[in-house]
Amino acid sequence: MRALQQALQVEADRGFIDLKGRQTCFSSFVVQQLQLRPQDLPAEALQRLLDLSAGFQAYGELPLARRQSLVRTARERLHALRQAQQPVLAVAPPRLRLVSNSTAAGKAPNSASLNADTPLSEVRGVGPKTASRLAQLGLLLVRDLVHYYPRDYLDYANLVRINGLKPGTTATIVATVRRSHAFASPRNPNLSILELHLIDCTGRIKVTRFFAGQRFSSPGWLQSQQRLFPVGATVAVSGLVKETPYGPAFQDPLMEVLESPQAPVRSETIGRLLPVYGLTEGLGADRLRQVVEAVIPLVSSWPDPLPEALRRSQKLMGRSEALTQIHGPSGQEQLQASRRRLVFDEFLLLQLGLAQRRRQLSLRPAPPLALPPGGEGLVQKFLTILPFGLTGAQQRVLAEIRADLARPQPMARLVQGDVGSGKTVVALASLLTAIEAGCQGALMAPTEVLAEQHYRKLAEWLPQLHVTSALLTGSTPAPRRRQLLQDLVNGQLQLLVGTHALLEDPVQFDRLGLVVVDEQHRFGVRQRNRLLAKGLQPHLLTMTATPIPRTLALSLHGDLDVSQIDELPPGRQPIRTSMVKGSQRQRGYELIREQVALGQRAYVVLPLVEESEKLELRSAVEVHRQLSEEEFPDLAVGLLHGRLSSAEKQAAIGAFASGQTQVLVSTTVVEVGVDVPEASVMVIEHAERFGLAQLHQLRGRVGRGAAASYCLLINDSSNVLARQRLEVLVRTSDGFEIAEMDLRLRGPGQVLGTRQSGLPDLALASLTEDGTVLEEARDVARQITAADPELRQHQGLAHALAEQRRRQMDQAARLN
Ligand code: ADP
Ligand code: MG
Repeated sequence: MRALQQALQVEADRGFIDLKGRQTCFSSFVVQQLQLRPQDLPAEALQRLLDLSAGFQAYGELPLARRQSLVRTARERLHALRQAQQPVLAVAPPRLRLVSNSTAAGKAPNSASLNADTPLSEVRGVGPKTASRLAQLGLLLVRDLVHYYPRDYLDYANLVRINGLKPGTTATIVATVRRSHAFASPRNPNLSILELHLIDCTGRIKVTRFFAGQRFSSPGWLQSQQRLFPVGATVAVSGLVKETPYGPAFQDPLMEVLESPQAPVRSETIGRLLPVYGLTEGLGADRLRQVVEAVIPLVSSWPDPLPEALRRSQKLMGRSEALTQIHGPSGQEQLQASRRRLVFDEFLLLQLGLAQRRRQLSLRPAPPLALPPGGEGLVQKFLTILPFGLTGAQQRVLAEIRADLARPQPMARLVQGDVGSGKTVVALASLLTAIEAGCQGALMAPTEVLAEQHYRKLAEWLPQLHVTSALLTGSTPAPRRRQLLQDLVNGQLQLLVGTHALLEDPVQFDRLGLVVVDEQHRFGVRQRNRLLAKGLQPHLLTMTATPIPRTLALSLHGDLDVSQIDELPPGRQPIRTSMVKGSQRQRGYELIREQVALGQRAYVVLPLVEESEKLELRSAVEVHRQLSEEEFPDLAVGLLHGRLSSAEKQAAIGAFASGQTQVLVSTTVVEVGVDVPEASVMVIEHAERFGLAQLHQLRGRVGRGAAASYCLLINDSSNVLARQRLEVLVRTSDGFEIAEMDLRLRGPGQVLGTRQSGLPDLALASLTEDGTVLEEARDVARQITAADPELRQHQGLAHALAEQRRRQMDQAARLN
C-alpha cells in the first residue's frame, strides 16, 4: 500500500501526466497494485477498490480535472483503508534493563599473552577435545574464531506485550505472576510441571515448564519452585512462541524473576540477541558460545585498519566494537551497525585488491593502436560493405573502444549487450582498428561451433578488405595448423579466430594488439598471465550477452570499464514466450508446423544427450527419432549435441542455417551465439532444469530476424519456485532484470558457473543484499587508491590486504 501511496504522491507532484516508469506507466502500475489488496476486506471496501481500479484503467484518456479527482479519491480511500487496518491501540513494549555483557561483567581476558595467532587449544577452558572439534570447523587460531560469524540470532531482545506474541518468533515478555503451581505429573511420576499464570496490561498467558527426573518430583523441590516464582513477582520470560489451540504459548522458555520491575536481568540470554553458530558433531551451541566469549575480549586491543577520519565520514562502527557486537549484540541497531562495518571491510579489501591489480596491469604498456594519418579506411570500408547501418548504441560502444585502444594503457573493457544486439560487428570493427594500426587481432569464442560461425561471418567480409584471417581449433589438421602458426609468427596472418583454448596452445604472435573474448564475463587473471608469459600485453575486450548484475560485476572486476549495447537493431519483434505443461507439448508442435509452412525454422532444445531413466529426461537422440519418424515425417529434422564431432556439429548447424533441415533438435550446444535469423520457434523441454540466464540465452536464438517469434517453455515440475522462475521469463525479456532474478534465486556461484567463477570469499557480505555497502566501499577504495596507490599512508589496510592474500594462498595450498 505504501508503494501505491508513493506513486500517487509522485503523480500528483508531476501534474497528473500518467508518468512513464521503466516497466509500466503510472496508471497500469496502480491497477496492478490494486490487485494486491489484502485478502479479508469487507465487501464495501472491496467494492470501492474495484471501482477505483476500473477508473484507473481509463486514466490515460481522462481529462486533467478527472485525473486529479481520481487520484485524490484514491488517496483518501487508501488512507481510510490503512486506518481501518491498523490495530486499535498499541501498548508500548515492556522495558528490560540488561547488565552489559561479558566484558563489563568482570571477565577479564583470560590471559594477556593471547593474540590473534594463538592456537585455540591454548585458550583457557579449551581442552584437546574441544580444540579438535573446533578444528573440524576450520577454526585453529583465535583469529579464525573471531571471524566465525553467527549464522543467525535468537531474538530474545524482541520485547513484546502478551497480546503481541506471534507464533513462530522468539520473544521476551515481562509480566506479573498471578498464580504459581508446581506439581508432579499425574500420569508420569518422573515428570514434574511448573505452571505460571502471568498477566500484563494487555492480556494473560499460561507458561509451563517441564522437569524430567526423579529428583524434581520431591515435594520439597516442588515447593521451592513455587517459592521461586511467588504470586506478585515480576518475571521475564524468553523463548520460542508456538501456536496452540488456546492461543500462543512459549515452548520451554527461559525465565527469571526480577527483583523489582526496574531491576536488571541477571541472565545472559533473556532479553538479548543470542548468536547461533554453525556447529559440528560433538560441539554444542553453549560450548561454542563460551569459547567465543572467552576470546572476544581480546579484540578490544586490535588496531582498526580504517583511519579515524574515514570511519567517521562513512559513519562506521570501530572494528573491535563491531567484532564484539556481531558475537554478542546489545540490540538490533548495534547488530546492524556491526554487520555493516564488517561487510564494508570485506568489500573494501576486495575493491582495494582489484584496484591494485588493475594498477599493476596499467603500469605495463600496451601498444597504442592509433590510426596512421589518413587512416580510418579499413573500418570505414567495412561499415560500407555491411548490409545494414550500425545502431546508435553500436556506434557509441565502438567509439568507446577505439578511444581505449588509442591509449598506451591496456584496455580492459566488457561489452554487455543483450542477445541479438549485434556485438559481433562491433568486435570486428575493433579488430580492424587494431589491424589497421599494424597489429594482429585474436577473436576467441567459448565453443568450436561458435568460433566456426564467427569465422564464416568473417569470411564474407574480410577478403574484400584484404585482411588475412584463419580459424584455429582443436580439429584443425596438423599440417594446416603448422602453416598457420608460422604465418602468425611472421606476421602474415592478421586475424586469428579460435576457441578460448587459443591461449593454451603454443601460439606465438608477431604483434598481438587486441584480443576479443566472446561470450565470457571475465578474462581471468590466469589467462592474462598466460599472455604476459608470452611477452604480450594486448588490449582486451570481453563481450557477453548475459549481463552480470552490478554487484557481481563490481566484485569480479572492481572498476572494469563496461560498455552497454542497449539497443536492438531495428525491426526486431519481441519473442512471445509461454509456459506449458508436457501434456500441451502438441501445441508447440503445431506452432512449429505453422512456422515451417511460412518458411521459418524451429529449435527443440533438451537438457541432456542420452536417455537417463532415472531422471526421466527426454533425450535429444530419442526426441530426434520421435520427431523425425512420427511427428514430422514430412520435414527434415536435424540433430545437434555435444557428443558429435566438430565436423558433424558444423554440418548440423550448416544444414539448419541453409534450410536443408527445418527443425533442429539440440542440447544446449546452441546456447550461445548461434545465429540463424530464419529460426522463429523454440520449444524448450524440461525448462525448469535450466538457469534463468541460460534460458534467456537459449531464447535469444530465435527472434533474430524480422518475423514474429515464439518460445515455449515446457515445465512438468509442480515445484512452485520453478514456476515462479519461469514466469520471470514469460514476463520480461530484459536481460538485466533476468540476471538480477537469477542472482537472487540461485546465488552468485551458480550464476557465474564454476568454470569462470573466481568469486571472492565473503564471510558476511551478500551480493544480493549488500549492494549499497558495496558501492560505498568501492567509492572509498577508489579515493584511497587515487590518493595513495601504494597504501603508504594506510598501513592498516595494506596489512589487512597482505594478510588476506596470505590466507587465500594458505587456503589454496590446503585445497591442493
Ligand atoms: P549478439 O550480440 O547476440 O552476438 P550478433 O552479433 O550475432 O548478436 O547479431 C545478431 C544479428 O543481428 C546478426 O544476424 C547480425 O548480422 C545482425 N545485426 C547486427 N547489427 C545490426 C544492425 N545494426 N542492423 C541490423 N542487423 C544487425
Ligand atoms: Mg554473439
